[in-house]
Amino acid sequence: MAWGYWTIEEALKLPSEYGISSRVTSQVASYPPELQLAYLQSSIIRLWSSFALPMFINYANFGCVAIIFIVATLRHFIGQWVTGKLPAPVQRVQTAIVKHLYLSSLFGKKTSQPVSFIGAKGALGRWTSVQIPTRLHGIFITILVTFNVLMVFYQPTVYPNLTYIAVGYSRSQYFRVAADRCAYLAFGLTPLAIALAGRNNILTAMTGASYSTIQIYHRWVSRMCFMHGFVHTVCWLLMEGWSNQLPTMFKRAYWNWGFVAIFGGLLLFFCSQRRIRELCYELFLIGHVTGALLWVVGCYYHALLRRETELLRWIYAAVGFWASDHLFRWVRIVVLNMPALFRTSRSTKPKTGAFAAEGYLVGEGSFIRLRLVPSVRWPAGMGGPGTYVFVRSADWKVTQAHPFTITWPMGMALPLESGARSSAASSSDQESDREKKSSASTHSTLDHEFDSSDLDSPAAFELLVKPYSGFTQSLSRSLANDPSAEDGTVQGVSTKRVKLLVEGPYGHSVQLEHYGSVLLVSGGSGVSANVAHLADLAKCLGKGTLAVKRVVVVWSIRDLDSIRAVIPYLNRLEPLFGSMPAGFVEFHVHYTGSAASESVDVEKSSGMVPAEEALAAIDRSFSHLGPAIRTIPTAGRPSVAAHVERLLPFASERIAVSTCGPTALCDASREAVKQSLGGGVTAHQIVYHEEAFTW
Ligand SMILES: Cc1cc2nc3c(=O)[nH]c(=O)nc-3n(C[C@H](O)[C@H](O)[C@H](O)COP(=O)(O)OP(=O)(O)OC[C@H]3O[C@@H](n4cnc5c(N)ncnc54)[C@H](O)[C@@H]3O)c2cc1C
Repeated sequence: MAWGYWTIEEALKLPSEYGISSRVTSQVASYPPELQLAYLQSSIIRLWSSFALPMFINYANFGCVAIIFIVATLRHFIGQWVTGKLPAPVQRVQTAIVKHLYLSSLFGKKTSQPVSFIGAKGALGRWTSVQIPTRLHGIFITILVTFNVLMVFYQPTVYPNLTYIAVGYSRSQYFRVAADRCAYLAFGLTPLAIALAGRNNILTAMTGASYSTIQIYHRWVSRMCFMHGFVHTVCWLLMEGWSNQLPTMFKRAYWNWGFVAIFGGLLLFFCSQRRIRELCYELFLIGHVTGALLWVVGCYYHALLRRETELLRWIYAAVGFWASDHLFRWVRIVVLNMPALFRTSRSTKPKTGAFAAEGYLVGEGSFIRLRLVPSVRWPAGMGGPGTYVFVRSADWKVTQAHPFTITWPMGMALPLESGARSSAASSSDQESDREKKSSASTHSTLDHEFDSSDLDSPAAFELLVKPYSGFTQSLSRSLANDPSAEDGTVQGVSTKRVKLLVEGPYGHSVQLEHYGSVLLVSGGSGVSANVAHLADLAKCLGKGTLAVKRVVVVWSIRDLDSIRAVIPYLNRLEPLFGSMPAGFVEFHVHYTGSAASESVDVEKSSGMVPAEEALAAIDRSFSHLGPAIRTIPTAGRPSVAAHVERLLPFASERIAVSTCGPTALCDASREAVKQSLGGGVTAHQIVYHEEAFTW
C-alpha cells in the first residue's frame, strides 16, 4: 500500500486495501466540505497504522521464524560437510562467527548460569536471575524486543486524526493508536509463543537446536506478547477513565473477557519466573497451563464479542498448534504404552508396554537406575545420544511428566562377556534367572544389573535419575518402600517394578563417531549423557563406522555413591571396546567432595570423604575394568580448558566436545572451546555440543 496525499476524488477511487469502505464514504459525506479530505486522510492512516501495519508485522514474525528455520536447517544438515571443504579465508570467517557469535555470551562469560540482572547476590540475586543468551541469539532477541517496543510508541503523522474525535484527541489519539496496534500484535504473537513451546517442535528436529534454545525464543516472544496485551489494557483503562466511562465498561462482556485474558497473562508472567520454576516446578506448570488457558479463551471472547473477527484467526492458529502438539504427545504415549494399559496387576508383569519398567536405588539412593520396555521399538535413528524421554507414573503424580536423557539406548546388544547378560539371556524363569545372575557375575557387587528375564529385549532402554524433592523423590520412595512391588533381590540390591509411562524420544541425536577425538564432560547426573555417547560409539565400532581414535571422559562427582551408578555401564562397555588400544577411553573422575566420613568404601559410603581416601576408593572400584578403559581419579574440579588443550594437537582429525552438567561446567566448557578457536584451529576442527538438564 503506497502512502500519499490525494484529492478527495482520487482518495475515493483508491483500491479496497486503503479501507475506503461505504461506511467511511458515508461518514465523509457527513463532514463539512472543508473537513472531508482531512477525514479521509485520517481514515486511511488509521487503518494503515493501527490494523494493516500490525497485521503485516504478525505475518512478518512468522516469515522471520521461517527464514531463521531454513538457514538453521541448511546449516545443520549440510554445514558440517561443507565447512571442511571451504577455502581457508572463508573458514577463518566462519571460525570467527562461531567464536564470537555462537560461543560467546551476550554479556560476560555466563550463558548457562543464570545472572542477576540487577547484580544482586543471595536470595535477591536468585529471584532476579535471568539466563544471558549467546550473542547470536542475543542479537535476534534484541531485534525482536526493539522492534516490538518501537511498535508501541511509533505514531502516525496525522495530528489530529479526525477518526479519533469520539475519544478526544490528541492525548487519547496517542493511546488509542497504541491500544489498537498492541491488540493486533498480542493476538499475532500468541500462536508463535505456543508453537515455540511445543514438544513436537519441528524446529528442534530440523535445525538441531535444543529444546532449551527454542525456549529462549518462546520466553521472549511470550514476554512481548504479554507486553502488548498489558499496554492495550492500560491504554483503554486510561482512555475510559478520562471520559468517566469505566463503570459502564465493566458491564460489557467483551471488556470483562479482556480482563480474563490479561489476568491469565499476569499469572503466566509471574509463574514463569526462573526462581519459581526452580523452587516449585509444579506451581510453574499449573500457573502456565491455567494462565495460557485464560489468555486464549479471554482473547477469543474479547475479539468475538467486539466483532473483531479477523483477529480470531490467530486464536485458531494458537489452538491448532497446541492441539496438534498434544495430539502427537498422546499418540506417542498410546503407541508406546498401549498393549498393557489394562493389565495393571503386578502379577502379570508385562514384558513390554505400559508399566513395563523396573528400577532400583543405587547405594544409599543417590541415583535411580531405571529400565523401561515400551511396546514398540523406535525407528532407526531415533533415541540416539542426546535424546530424552518424558516419564510419568501411573500411580502417583499422574499429571506430571519429567524429562530424562536416554542413558542406554534401545536395541543395543549387551556384550556376551557381561555377567548380567550371561545370567539373564537364556532363561525366562525369573527366579532361576536371578540365581544364575548372582553366581555368574564375575564383577564386584557394584556390577548390579537389572533383574528381569527380558534384559536384552530390543525395545529396552535405560535411564539414570538423580532424585530431587518432587517426582523423582516419589519414585525413589516407591522403589525403596513398597515391598509389595518388590521383584527380587540380587546381590543385596532389590529391583522393583514401577508403573511408568514413556513419551518420546525427543531432541535430536548428536553423532560423534566421525570425529578423531571426543571429549565428554559432565557433572553428577549429567554422566547419563556421556554414557549414551559411549554406548553409541561402541555401537559404531561394532558396525565398523567408528573414526574416533581417543575418548576422554571428564566426570565431576561430589559423592562416591555416584560411582555405583556408572560402573554397570562401564562393565558393559569395556568388552565392547575390547578391540581398541589400551586407554582408548580415558575416564577422569574428579572428586570434589571433601568432608570427613567414617567409611571410604564405595560400596558402603554415600557421603563425602577426604580426597586421598576417596581417590583410592575410586581406583579400587574401577580396577577390574580391562585396558580399553583407563580410569584416572583426581581430586578437585576439572579444568576443561586443560583437557581441550591436550587434544588440540589432534585437531586436524576433528575434535568433538560434549558437555552435560552443572551450568558452571557448561560455561567453562564453552569458554574452553571458544578460546581454542583461532590461531590455526577452525570451527570445523573443534565442535561444541551442550546437553542441558534445565530449561
Ligand atoms: C532435557 C532434559 C534431560 C534430563 N535428563 C536427566 C537425566 O538423565 N537424569 C536426571 O537425573 N535428570 C535429568 N534431567 C533433570 C530432571 O528432569 C529433573 O531433575 C526432574 O524433572 C526433577 O523432578 P522433581 O519433581 O523431582 O524435581 P523438583 O525437586 O521439583 O525440582 C528439581 C529441579 O528439577 C527441575 N524440574 C522439575 N520438574 C521438571 C520438569 N518436568 N522438566 C524440567 N525440569 C524440571 C526444577 O526446575 C528444579 O530445578 C533432565 C532435564 C532435562 C530438561
